[in-house]
Amino acid sequence: MTVPSDQDRSEEAGLPAPPADGPGLFGDAPQPPAPAMPDAAPAAPYRVLARKYRPTTFDDLIGQETTVRILRNAFALGRVAHAFMLTGVRGVGKTTTARIIARALNCTGPDGTGGPTADPCGVCPNCVAILADRHPDVLEMDAASRTGVDDVREIIEATRFRPMQGRMKVFIIDEVHMLSRNAFNALLKTLEEPPAQVTFIFATTELRKVPVTVLSRCQTFALRRVPQVELAAHFDRVAQAEHVRFSPDALSLIARAADGSVRDGLSLLDQAIAQGTLDGEGGTDAAPIGMDLVAGMLGLADRGLVFDLLDAVLEGRPDRALAITADVYVRGGDLGVMLGDVLELVHTVSRIKAIPALRDNPELPEAERQRGAALAERVPVPVLGRTWQMLLKGLSEVEQAPDRRQAAEMVLIRLCYVADLPPPGDLVRRMLGQDAAAAPLHVPEPAGGGNDVSGPAVSTPPVAGGPPAGGDGGAIRMVANGGMRVEGTPRPAAPRTGRVEETAPAPEPLAPPRTWRETVAFVSGRDAMLHGHLRHATHLVSFAPPLIEIRVERNSLPGLARRLETILREGTGDPAWQVRQSDAEGEATLAEQGAEIIQLHRAAAQAHPLVQAAMQVFPTARLGEVTDHALDDYGLPPEEMAVQNLAPDLEFAPLDADLVEEDDLDADDFA
Ligand SMILES: [Zn+2]
Repeated sequence: MTVPSDQDRSEEAGLPAPPADGPGLFGDAPQPPAPAMPDAAPAAPYRVLARKYRPTTFDDLIGQETTVRILRNAFALGRVAHAFMLTGVRGVGKTTTARIIARALNCTGPDGTGGPTADPCGVCPNCVAILADRHPDVLEMDAASRTGVDDVREIIEATRFRPMQGRMKVFIIDEVHMLSRNAFNALLKTLEEPPAQVTFIFATTELRKVPVTVLSRCQTFALRRVPQVELAAHFDRVAQAEHVRFSPDALSLIARAADGSVRDGLSLLDQAIAQGTLDGEGGTDAAPIGMDLVAGMLGLADRGLVFDLLDAVLEGRPDRALAITADVYVRGGDLGVMLGDVLELVHTVSRIKAIPALRDNPELPEAERQRGAALAERVPVPVLGRTWQMLLKGLSEVEQAPDRRQAAEMVLIRLCYVADLPPPGDLVRRMLGQDAAAAPLHVPEPAGGGNDVSGPAVSTPPVAGGPPAGGDGGAIRMVANGGMRVEGTPRPAAPRTGRVEETAPAPEPLAPPRTWRETVAFVSGRDAMLHGHLRHATHLVSFAPPLIEIRVERNSLPGLARRLETILREGTGDPAWQVRQSDAEGEATLAEQGAEIIQLHRAAAQAHPLVQAAMQVFPTARLGEVTDHALDDYGLPPEEMAVQNLAPDLEFAPLDADLVEEDDLDADDFA
């Protein structure tokens, strides 16, 4: 962001006096004093708005009511400090405030008899000289360029002399945190016992870098960021005074970009006026300067485009997201900035969701209020949170990546792919079977690092009747006890083919399996996809080694029987194995059997008095993993006792994070 007024300001410090600033405007807007208008005096050198409309009285200061009130009181009581520390972000008015204080201290009133006042007259010789930056007793120094002890000594030397013209010598030291340690030390002695006719006014953007010893001798004022609404209103007054018309949205956008800084905002306003006038906008008869121009000037992607992009991402449409990205790129937009815009929008939408009243808040541009509110209706908070986190992480990736465009695109693709991943809370509910009839669980690859999304793993029956539909990309891991765990895989670029990842370590070549369950386990680690299908979609009809008869559910893995046969033959070294498809019903799949047992366990756990008590205390808690360590990896009891002991004793560990707060689930980092 170019801020002409900055250079402007440094020019002021110690350079020939600039043309006198006009009278303060803000009190008498919106009717500007006609003679001061630039079009009335075309010969006058152009002054940037930030200087032209620099406040000259406390009343003109925007958004600093607290500071002004305290200062007014101090002047009223005649108890004005000898050292001030003004802190705040750039452009909030620190040096401006310092100059107003300098005038307040030195003003003699129109008749030349007045004392220090919180309302400097602006016409006495002192006021005029200070306004014009040429008062011999008001000295400004930029510590950013003069950091040494000698510079400070010069000042200290100067404090020994009486004021030449004014009542009080005022030293304004900007960016005081830049002073060297020795310089601070030299200053400290003077600060401890300041001469009666000396006032120090320090300004800094980084208060923490100022030694406490110095701070403790100053009255500190934290100038706050000016709220957007106040900024927008202020810019509106300035624009009117300049006879330029802006659309309210455009002003809001400038106010937002100004980020609390009056000066930055006025610089932007300057630019927008220059550009708008070129384009024939903004004049009294022409169309007002609109949001598009401002957005373009700020390098912001068009707001509508940002909304489109977020829509695409949330709908999981990478093609659309990349098309928008290409569009922005071609038009010279910075993709990091674009992602930042999306990030900001996600924040806005989340705020609207949290505070519905924001829909009517004038601080938000119209588009944000309408489309933002619509998004807020639609998108659950956990998804917004997840999107925000991923974007935030993505932004830093963009900053570090050798190619920003590539990095930004990768971030968006990743976002699209998790878009249809249900929020963790939903996932749990669906796993719990409460929503089994709803759309099939569609789990794309989570992006990036392997995070165990389920947090405290919830081991529950998978939706019966087949593998989790479209369990794409190896993201679901079957865990012991028939549960599912969503986790990252080390193969982020894997094609999204239906595949259920079993990440159990590959077993050593084993003795031939003796049971169907052993057969399935045999496959585990050798062929993850086959393993998943065997487990979820394959019904054993008969097991009579070396012949196995199975019924495979429709839409399951093609060639499943052949594939199993091959693995058995190769794995055992015995070519006699045969796997045949059968039409007979067969027994339930292993997953179904496991589900049944877990259901029994869950019912038992749910009924447990301790769980009941806990549920009463934490109404939002959900029953997490129910673990029976007697069960094997398929959630089934050891085969020897499978028949007679369907519901073995429950091993119950209530303190083992079995209660899962939904918040915890939602807070999981997907990025
Ligand atoms: Zn005065």
